[in-house]
Amino acid sequence: MDTSYEIGLGNDDRLLRKRASDDYVKFWEEQAQNLQWFAKWDSPLEWNPPFARWFVNGKLNASYNAIDVIAQKNPGKTAILWENENGQTRSLTYGEMLVYVCKVANALKLLGVAKGDRVTVYLPMIPELVVTLLACSRIGAIHTVIFSGFSSQSIRDRVVDSESKVIITADGGFRRGEVVPLKKAVDEAIFGLEFVEHVLVYRHANLEVNFGKKDRLWEDLLEKAPEHCPAEEMESTHPLYILYTSGTTGKPKGVLHGTGGYLVHLYSTFKWIFDIRDDDIYFCTADIGWVTGHSYVVYGPLMHGATQVLYEGALVFPTPGRLWDLVEKYGVTILYTTPTALRMFMKYGDLIPNSHNLSSLRLLGTVGEPINPEVWRWYFNVIGKGRCPIVDTWWQTETGGTMISPVPGVETIPLKPGSAARQLPGIHVAVVDENGNDVPPETKGYLVVKTPWPGMLLTLWGDDDKYRTVYWSKYKNMYYPGDYAIRDKDGYFWMLGRADDVLKVAGHRLGTAEIESGFVLHKSVAEAAVCGIPHEVKGEAIIAFLVLKEGVMPDKKLREELILHIRKVVGPIATPDKLYIVSKLPKTRSGKIMRRLLKSVANNDKIGDVSTLEDEGAVDEVRSAFAELDKAVHGDGVR
Ligand code: ATP
Ligand code: MG
Repeated sequence: MDTSYEIGLGNDDRLLRKRASDDYVKFWEEQAQNLQWFAKWDSPLEWNPPFARWFVNGKLNASYNAIDVIAQKNPGKTAILWENENGQTRSLTYGEMLVYVCKVANALKLLGVAKGDRVTVYLPMIPELVVTLLACSRIGAIHTVIFSGFSSQSIRDRVVDSESKVIITADGGFRRGEVVPLKKAVDEAIFGLEFVEHVLVYRHANLEVNFGKKDRLWEDLLEKAPEHCPAEEMESTHPLYILYTSGTTGKPKGVLHGTGGYLVHLYSTFKWIFDIRDDDIYFCTADIGWVTGHSYVVYGPLMHGATQVLYEGALVFPTPGRLWDLVEKYGVTILYTTPTALRMFMKYGDLIPNSHNLSSLRLLGTVGEPINPEVWRWYFNVIGKGRCPIVDTWWQTETGGTMISPVPGVETIPLKPGSAARQLPGIHVAVVDENGNDVPPETKGYLVVKTPWPGMLLTLWGDDDKYRTVYWSKYKNMYYPGDYAIRDKDGYFWMLGRADDVLKVAGHRLGTAEIESGFVLHKSVAEAAVCGIPHEVKGEAIIAFLVLKEGVMPDKKLREELILHIRKVVGPIATPDKLYIVSKLPKTRSGKIMRRLLKSVANNDKIGDVSTLEDEGAVDEVRSAFAELDKAVHGDGVR
């Protein structure tokens, strides 16, 4: 394993790790002092497995910590530098945000929204989305954001599950040169739902919309709303939001997060991981519709008074260099994105980023999927020019915040391409076998979390039983995230993919990420996805789907070369029985490869829930590629 990337920011706070390992509860209690509390907690943690309550009886407000604290000290500091794919721009200071948040909070009160009510938010990536979440948390309403690319059926399912009484949306949003009609989707979604009392509509895209009796116009209501709204003193354990998971493995789960513990987790991890400084320009490309946006666009950065770029639209529109234009224009210092986006940029070649001035960057981050070592090196060399540490952050909607990552704000350690490095201070992650016993270093197993952590979900909304079954039934008193991993002898974690997707070939267990990263190492391969299908002799056979880089021809010679390559870099055990070259892979709307769909196609099964699929055309494409190739080789593979 490569250890040559010894790069950090010079911080070396060994005492922090020591305090965390001496007594993790006391340590988190210490971290909690960084927030503003209206009343101190009686007990830092009540742990009735599997339910954790952090900072019990403490009182605070999320919106107050995210806005007021900075607005009081430095109202003129820029909070948001907004731009969309059409080139429209806006900027808001912390002082302006405070007034806006208060007005929207009062507007919600005018609509009858009270503490504990659920508010569904279906908005594009505009400042109003951030403001709306803070307005909800200011009055104790539980926000539930739906990614603005979802269809009306997905909205309906979530609105019904959360029983939201108010929905906040816009006429439309911009994506890839098109206007997405958001209000229209909401109209279809809530048809016949009596409990939905109001729909608040923000005019953004100049789109004609139907106006029914439940509908209220944002600007009309705000005109009547006063500029001052005190932040409610909320219990630390009060639910802050419901957010549905990406749906990579099936039907999305309604994750419920609390307030105090969640914010403490974010405050600390944002500082440790991004080493945030006053003059940084931070840019996280995640949509607020996903947890990364909630934690590391909204609450984490704002609690630190960060200035950030907020972008509405596709990162490659109108040109493939759009992201790099933004980095250069705003002088972005910290960039946080996904492996899937990086693979897409890589596919376009080095010329585009190389023709931009990216010298402002000082720290790079990634989240969402295992990052292939080859993609890591590209990010490090081509984007970071060998100067910027990469923080590969492992976490989930359920964990609320990052659990495993390098922490340049705390310590300087060698980075290993493809590894998320070590567990964060105060977090206890391990790799165990089927029986829950720790495995020795360099042994594959299941990732678990052994002690409660502050960002931990409270439960699944309205379904404690499912919460127990999904996360706490495989092992006693250990949280089971469902990921397969290995910890090396230096204590670094390597994520090998989903536990459900592990392949067992001739007695050997292989994580999908191991094989996929092997393929991506090849110069012609942009993306890879593998899955297993039953095989009489081997138990399982590997099926590989590959997307090639721009301009590469998928001829017989290349296929043979790819087979030889994977045998060489991973081992003969990784030889695929079939190898299909496709033009794209089925992905969730959050950009993750949906391997279960590939598996269904490979097994000729019925395709299950595709509501979170990015592009339904991709399923058809995988199907037709499969059929076409299967025919061409008479079911005999391409070996
Ligand atoms: P669902 O639970 O509905 O199937 P999901 O798991 O994709 O959806 P998220 O909470 O958005 O929903 O994703 C968390 C998962 O993403 C993790 O369990 C892990 O598999 C993967 N992941 C996130 N970050 C990383 C990372 N840095 N390295 C490897 N895998 C990661
Ligand atoms: Mg998950």
